[in-house]
Amino acid sequence: MHCPFCGGNDTRVTDSRLVAEGDQVRRRRQCASCGERFTTYEAAELVMPRVIKADGSREQFNEAKLRDGMLRALEKRPVEAEAIEAAVERIRQSLRARGEREVHARDVGEEVMQALERLDHVAYIRFASVYRSFQDINAFRAEIDRLAQEPSVSRDESARQPSVDDTGSSQ
Ligand SMILES: [Zn+2]
Repeated sequence: MHCPFCGGNDTRVTDSRLVAEGDQVRRRRQCASCGERFTTYEAAELVMPRVIKADGSREQFNEAKLRDGMLRALEKRPVEAEAIEAAVERIRQSLRARGEREVHARDVGEEVMQALERLDHVAYIRFASVYRSFQDINAFRAEIDRLAQEPSVSRDESARQPSVDDTGSSQ
């Protein structure tokens, strides 16, 4: 991003927010060379940050992969598709609104965990047990206990009717 005043290309983002119903990101920037401040509007879909993986490699943010991970954790859980899509969209918006060019994969993972914790505690535990790879059984139990203290919308699994996709199974 070049400074419109001096042409320098070292500018710092001082504020970043979604506008136009999430279609645009408005960024306030300050030029490191001349100190002038200016504002840019960028199409939101162009500014999804790249993801820094644990091994240091970078990859394009992949919404399908994010959704797949969530759907695996939510398999056979009583959560509506609409609620899942809304959660995916919230994660996208949250990542965009950071205004960073790159985010760590673990930050994306934390966003997913927060979303799942709101949607369904069983799915949250499934995801967290893989993602956080709980150090030992005590850490895992502590997390279960913590969740048990919170109001849950999905505790009573045994009372649930078999879901539609159970009935068509050949197994
Ligand atoms: Zn400048």
